Amino acid sequence: MTKIHNFSAGPAILPQSVMKEAGAACVNFQDMGLSILEISHRSPQFSAVLEEAEALVRELLNVGDDYGVLFLQGGASSQFFMAPMNLLGTNDTAAYIETGTWATKAIKEAKKFGQVANVASSKEDNFTHIPKEFELPDSCKYLHITSNNTVRGTQYAEIPNVAMPLVCDASSDIFSRPMDVSKFDIIYAGAQKNMGPAGVTLVIARKDALGKIERDIPTMLDYRTHIEKGSAFNTPPVFPIYVSMLNLRWVKENGGVAAMEKHNAEKARLMYQAIDESPLFSCPNADEDRSTMSAVFVMNKPELEADFLAACKAANCSGVKGHRSVGGFRASMYNAMNVDSVEVLTGVMREFTAKHA
Ligand code: PMP
Repeated sequence: MTKIHNFSAGPAILPQSVMKEAGAACVNFQDMGLSILEISHRSPQFSAVLEEAEALVRELLNVGDDYGVLFLQGGASSQFFMAPMNLLGTNDTAAYIETGTWATKAIKEAKKFGQVANVASSKEDNFTHIPKEFELPDSCKYLHITSNNTVRGTQYAEIPNVAMPLVCDASSDIFSRPMDVSKFDIIYAGAQKNMGPAGVTLVIARKDALGKIERDIPTMLDYRTHIEKGSAFNTPPVFPIYVSMLNLRWVKENGGVAAMEKHNAEKARLMYQAIDESPLFSCPNADEDRSTMSAVFVMNKPELEADFLAACKAANCSGVKGHRSVGGFRASMYNAMNVDSVEVLTGVMREFTAKHA
């Protein structure tokens, strides 16, 4: 099989070894003579998978027992409403920082449950930077941030230091670097970027923050249900959890999130160097906010965009087209991507520049 360098934003690259093991488990899981797809979610074999997945999340991110680690369905998009539904009373206020498409969507949903203070937004600047100056209203319940803005390619280099709990959409940079979980009431992430395949959503929830508001929360949407039942209140997404567990094992075997951070920084360095040195390409984002996961760039000769994408394809680089709402290009470089893939793409960029600049 030809090696394809997969720069897709998500669902995204996973290690080949993970894919192979997952494939084999679809045929015969742990020599049971059964596929992982056809065993009970309450079987001892799957219970062990769920336990190991949770233990790996706890170990890799140093999550204490005062937090629940949950594997839910509904995507990160459901967390846009589930977090405020669980934390925000009708008359309470939550602060949100609007740093891109996903933050805008989170704000829209939170308004259905309480008061939202949009304390800082870079919308007027096309989300090309992360606003750092903001004032928080008194007696705020939490501050919501999006740690990596998948569409626009900006990322918090440092998580804001505020005197209140954070709620964070970490969908596109979870497990890419260490995180001080104790600053957060809720961290949520759709798995399909850096954790596993689509179909499961990770939620890390501070137990103490729950049950504080008067709202009759539907059982399935109450974090406490899933904490109590160990993510098995109903049938959990068995296969996505299994593949995520394999991937988290891979992260651990490869040095954990500190090693991932170093490896991701090197890939980002190579990528932005190629963008910055080219008279043809540029990154619209503020230097200090550039994402290590999602490098967004544009070309100053838009008429050549299709040719550049064709050159990428010819070099077996896939998924380089920018998000449909933004255009241009985007190279997502999640944990499983090797430096050599970035070298191939930057090679294409250099050749294209030499020909067309
Ligand atoms: N938040 C961020 C930062 C994302 O990148 C995405 C998906 N691209 C979402 C939320 C939505 O995730 P889902 O499709 O799992 O609902």
